[in-house]
This record gives sequence, C-alpha cells and structure tokens, in this order.
Amino acid sequence: MTDLALWFDPSKCLINGEWVAASGGTLPLFDPSTGSEIGAIARGQAADIDAAVAAAEAARRGPWGRMTATERGRILSELGRLVTARIDDLARIEAFDVGKPLKQARADAVALARYCEYYGGAADKLMGETIPYLDGYTVYTLREPHGVTGHIVPWNYPMQIIGRSVGAALATGNTCVLKPAEDACLTALAFADMARAAGLPDGVLNVVPGLGSEAGAALTAHPGIHHISFTGSVGTGMAVQAAAARNVIPVTLELGGKSPQVVFNDADLDRALPFLVNAGIQNCGQTCSASSRILVQRGVHDQVLARMAERYDGLRVGPALADLDVGPVISAKQQRIVAGFLAQGADLEVAGRATLADLPTGGYYIAPTLLAGVSPAHALARDEIFGPVQVVIPFDTEEEAIAIANGTDYGLVASVWTRDGGRQMRLARAIRAGQVFINNYGAGGGVELPFGGMGKSGHGREKGFEALYGFTTLKTVAAWHG
Ligand code: NAD
Repeated sequence: MTDLALWFDPSKCLINGEWVAASGGTLPLFDPSTGSEIGAIARGQAADIDAAVAAAEAARRGPWGRMTATERGRILSELGRLVTARIDDLARIEAFDVGKPLKQARADAVALARYCEYYGGAADKLMGETIPYLDGYTVYTLREPHGVTGHIVPWNYPMQIIGRSVGAALATGNTCVLKPAEDACLTALAFADMARAAGLPDGVLNVVPGLGSEAGAALTAHPGIHHISFTGSVGTGMAVQAAAARNVIPVTLELGGKSPQVVFNDADLDRALPFLVNAGIQNCGQTCSASSRILVQRGVHDQVLARMAERYDGLRVGPALADLDVGPVISAKQQRIVAGFLAQGADLEVAGRATLADLPTGGYYIAPTLLAGVSPAHALARDEIFGPVQVVIPFDTEEEAIAIANGTDYGLVASVWTRDGGRQMRLARAIRAGQVFINNYGAGGGVELPFGGMGKSGHGREKGFEALYGFTTLKTVAAWHG
C-alpha cells in the first residue's frame, strides 16, 4: 500500500474529526488484481457507531445547524475543488482498492468532484412554497434536514455513491455517518479527510468502516439515525428496511438490476454497438445499472451478435493499474459467484469470450463472456450476475420486447435503440425502470439525472435536484393573522 502514498491511516475510523482505532481492531485488505493481502482497515463495531452518531448529533446542534445554505454550499464547492486537485491520487487509490481500470476509477473521481460542485451550487436553491388557504392565513412550507443520516455504501462505485448521497445530505444540512464497504473503503476515508480541509466542521461527516453484519447492522438499527441511504444487494436492502421500520425512519434503497437494452431493426447500429458492450463490461460488470440483457429484433440479431462477439473476443483483461478494458472482480467470493452463474449457463452458446493471458496468479479474474440464444426464462436472463456477462435475447415484435424487458423482478435502467419516434415514446412509457435512455445508455452516469429503482431495484431517488427532496422533510407552517 505504500505505493499509494496514502495521506491518512486506512486502519482507523474518522469520528468527530479525529482518527481513532476501531473497537473491533482491523480487517485484512486484499488487492483484487493479485489476491495478496496488503494492509488492514478498521473493523468498526457498535461502540464506534454509537460514538459516530453522538458526534453527528452534537454537530447538528452546533454551528453546522445554524449555517446558511449558501455557506454549506461554499464548503461543498471547495470540497469539489480539493477533489479535483487530487483526481489522480483518488483514481489510483480506487483502481487499486476495487480492481477497476485506472481510466474508470478516474471517471469516478471526476464524478465525485462534480457531485460536490452540483450539490454545492444547489444548496441554496431548495425552497418551500406558499399555499393559498383560508382568509386571514398565510401558509408556507419549510424544507428541513432529517437530522443524522446513515449512509451504507457498496464496494463497486464508492466515490460516485458517496458523492451522490453524502453530497445531497450535506447540502440540505444533515450530519452523516458513513459505513463504507469492507471490500473498498479507502476513498471514503480520503474524501472525509478532504472535507475537513474544505471547512466541514468536526462531527458533520463521520466514517466507520467495518463489516455489514457489525458496523452496518449497528448503524441501521441505531435509534439516533433519522434517515438511511442504502446502496447494495436486495437481501441486505430488505434487512435495512426492516431495521429502519423499527425506528420508523425513511429509507432510500438503491438495489440491483437486470437492465435491458432493446435494439430494433431500424437502430443506428454503429452508434449502438459501443454502448451495448460497454454497459455490460464497465467495472467488470459490477455495476447496479449494468446492461446485462441485450434484446435484439430478429432482423438485425445475427449482425448485432457477430459485432458484439468480435468486441468480446478482443477485450483485454488485466490488473487495475495496467488500465486495460476490464480488471478483476472485487473478491474471491465474487469470482466464485460469477463462475457459478457461468456454470449454470454451460448449455448456452458462447458467442464471444475474452482470452485471459499473462495475469498475476491469485487475482480475481473472470473472462468476459457473451451468451446467445438465451431464453428470457433462463436464470442468466433473470438474475443479477454482477460480473462481465451479457446475454443476447432475440424478439420479433414491439409487444414481445416490452414483455421481455419487464419480465424480471428488477426495474433500474433500460435503453431503446430505434429511429422511430413513436416507438421511442411508447417504450419509454411501457418499460418499468427508473431511467430509460433513448439511443444511448448511461450506466451509472449523469450527476444531474434522478436515479433509482422500481420493483426490487429499490425505491427513493438520488442524484440530480430530486435527491434534495429525499434528504429533507417537509414542515407546513399555517399562520393566522386575521
Ligand atoms: P451488500 O448488500 O452485501 O453490501 C452493501 C453494503 O451493505 C456494504 O457496505 C455492506 O457492508 C453493508 N451491509 C451488509 N450487510 C449489512 C447489514 N445486515 N446491515 C447493514 N449493512 C449491511 O452488497 P454488495 O455485494 O456489496 O454490492 C453489490 C450489490 O449492490 C449488487 O446487488 C448491486 O446491484 C447493488 N448496487 C446497487 C446500486 C444502485 O445504485 N442501485 C449501486 C451499486 C451496487
């Protein structure tokens, strides 16, 4: 880890502006590119969560609670400038920690800076309303912070997810306790340290790394938390929602997906092709909004399949810092899960597959694989794989395409590729997804674009201005003045 030149201690928690050892000691940190153990991170537990929540509660009663929205926005904007100045450092840390190619980690760092800039600018633009009411009354609404917000973040896009949830929570005046993933917590610590340098008062943003079953469960059950933003798997999301129900607090759940891209015969294939493949292999397929299902109308099916297969065959896989097309998956566990899915699809036609060569032994590599002729009922066409695997499903009619697109439990993102304007509009309405792209696909992209799921992809919206509503609660003031 010394190669990374970390300017903070990764084996500590940041609570109330101080680096403190976790009560559970440390957990080992692995490099996904080599499988080697290369350091230690904090193993936060319930006592550390208690301390972090107490610090956040005290901070919201301190100067932060009286700060104007403009001042909060300035701190966030300054944080965005500090992140921008360290984009290369942050990208290197994230690439190493998550195993993603450097250019993809760099895009995440750019997005983090952009979230700070966006929410910094938005902080003093959130307004209440005046409401016409009875004679002699003036009625208005106030948008108030929830209080202490809990943020549970997965390992696949730490910087982007912290930017969108913590950024919006701070802009609206909340104080935060952040529990990053045990598999990738380094940029969360780096970000919180930079936030102090940007002028964020102590205790406003606290970071407690650790296991989900320990620090994560303690945070979601804590009676001092007033809102939870959770991004992760469906099963954990259900547990988080159940814990929040016991304290009767709101939850935003950003869960998984099985997002389709629907390609019609009249699509601009030259434009579509890069999006079709990139949306499946970006971050080694470990993207909630990865497009893992490609639905292709019969007239162009063979051509699309052949062109996608050609791209798959040529993909270069290697260590994160080699900055090729695809890196390793995050962990040995994730490697086993993806391999298990591929074993379930052993009877399917492999249309394209990258060749693995000259890789560090011990790294968690999976050959990106394109499968063809897959029935929509097959497990690989229904379940989230979270690895570099895409399935191609043929269809004949628009109605059939809609039925297949909506035929999973998920509803996160979709895209429609067609030149027919009426069809674009019909599908945008008919497909069940939180985002529908027309003649493009934005896996995880779009700081300004509200994002979130339908069905088992979750509920609530983050990103864009919309997130500010989710991180506030509405108070109605009715004044009688005669
Ligand atoms: P996960 O649910 O195992 O873990 C996510 C986070 O929750 C981690 O920080 C983990 O420590 C914590 N956690 C685990 N158990 C917990 C518990 N009992 N209580 C509280 N916290 C707990 O998910 P993962 O495997 O790390 O991430 C992959 C999943 O996340 C995929 O399903 C993916 O689709 C989803 N995801 C969704 C989005 C989105 O925006 N919709 C983004 C990224 C990932």
